[in-house]
Amino acid sequence: MWPFGTGEISMATVSTVLGEVDATELGMTLMHEHIFINSMREERATGLLNDYELMKSEVAAFAALGGRTIVDLTTAELTSGASPDPVGRYSGHRATGYAEDGVRAANNVFHLTRLAEEVGLNIILGTGHYRDPFIDRDWFDRAGAERLAELIIRDLTVGIGETGVRAGIIGEIGADKWYVSAAEDRSFRAAAAAQKATGAAVSTHSSRWPIGMDQLDILIEAGADPRRVIIGHCDTINIPEYHEDLARRGAFVQFDTIRGGQFDTRRRVELVMNLARKNLLGYLLLSHDVCSRTHLTIDGGGGYILVPTGFSDALRQAGLGQDELDLILIDNPRRALTGA
Ligand SMILES: [Zn+2]
Repeated sequence: MWPFGTGEISMATVSTVLGEVDATELGMTLMHEHIFINSMREERATGLLNDYELMKSEVAAFAALGGRTIVDLTTAELTSGASPDPVGRYSGHRATGYAEDGVRAANNVFHLTRLAEEVGLNIILGTGHYRDPFIDRDWFDRAGAERLAELIIRDLTVGIGETGVRAGIIGEIGADKWYVSAAEDRSFRAAAAAQKATGAAVSTHSSRWPIGMDQLDILIEAGADPRRVIIGHCDTINIPEYHEDLARRGAFVQFDTIRGGQFDTRRRVELVMNLARKNLLGYLLLSHDVCSRTHLTIDGGGGYILVPTGFSDALRQAGLGQDELDLILIDNPRRALTGA
């Protein structure tokens, strides 16, 4: 059992779209992905992934390599209109506009449930709120941190909307700029409160240096356990000391924009090897953050398979052994998701 000590937040199981799954069953896990997503606010031409058969084949390629679990951090703000039309299993889905009161669109939940069944994968859903300017301030600004926390806790314990499917993690919650805005601050405090109430991990979007430190400060101040906090997009910031500092505070450091390219791969491998040299591999998580057509294998991207294939090969060439790869791809995700 890790981490040692008393009072740590841990769960023996985690909620997936098909129900509770034991921590020991999670296997190789991608910790920050999107399957059906609408990020057209920023990626007009390529930011809509809503082709069921296409996404199923991309995800199935990960399962065929022995992948067992995908964490889908598509919060409500990113789900509207992102899935193909539902086939009538759930009512009340919204095809356009923002999901009501920040709830993940029901058709998104429905299609991920179907996909998990058909591919034979664990899919864990995120809840909570993305960053400005994706947040729908019309409803968000009428809710205090306490109300926001209530809604997140409902997603984690009762189910998302009327679907009966529970979220299993809080994220991705984010800061858009190099500071945390007032609205985002409320979202972070609500996330910490929801973690305290449920034991769920918190996963962040933090693309600007050194915003992950500020995010961690707010979460800890509001009662979160740093050992169950994942600071995301750390590989977009090429400052090894920043990664070391986050890990030494107990948080997970996530390199989650692994998408190929010779230079990008070499730079990320060097960042991983730095953590290995500093004996901090126990804090590292890897993923692809698929969120655009250009990331899919059908369009020449790395899809959901680059981490277990080309990137793992590059890490082996750099000197990592199988035990270390298993630590990063299996043990660290399990510990992040469940504390166990
Ligand atoms: Zn993301």
